[in-house]
Amino acid sequence: MKHLAYLSIGGNMGDRLAYLKAALEALDHHPDCRLGLVSPIYETPAWGKTDQADFLNLACQVETDLSAQDFLALCQKIELDLDRVRIEKWGQRTIDLDIIFWDEEKIQEENLIVPHPYAHERAFVLLPLADIAADYRHPSFGQRVEELVSNLGDTSDIKKISLD
Ligand code: ATP
Ligand code: MG
Ligand code: MG
Repeated sequence: MKHLAYLSIGGNMGDRLAYLKAALEALDHHPDCRLGLVSPIYETPAWGKTDQADFLNLACQVETDLSAQDFLALCQKIELDLDRVRIEKWGQRTIDLDIIFWDEEKIQEENLIVPHPYAHERAFVLLPLADIAADYRHPSFGQRVEELVSNLGDTSDIKKISLD
């Protein structure tokens, strides 16, 4: 497939684990996408708007023949299919699919910014990402994901959860 995307996926409403699994399945079942590495799942406190339930988060790799715009549209369709309702910025949600990296590209479009503009500030994005892409170099900062983790100011209590 032509492109490699790294996604951060998370949610804090309803059956959080079931929503994560359903999002991964939807990506994997799309004819133009193939799910690659998937990180462990982390339980993380809400970021930005903190008076809400804890999230489950993971990072994954998706190979795809879709364009970046079509892939974003697919992510948004999966969100809607999985009961995502936007009420307030950074509010609670069943599922959020954010494109963190797209190949080595920098994209600045009205509805799509890649690398994701907050990725380097978020422990809930970087820690799972470091499990599957420690050596990936951030196209704007030139640092590897592992280095971004060491420089992280976000000291949230992020716990890897066990699924057994
Ligand atoms: P944040 O992006 O800070 O994590 P959020 O995920 O809660 O916030 P959403 O409501 O999911 O924000 O998305 C708001 C808009 O962000 C979407 O309409 C989408 O077009 C835009 N967007 C820009 N860049 C990206 C990206 N890299 N991945 C996903 N959506 C993006
Ligand atoms: Mg988000
Ligand atoms: Mg989003």
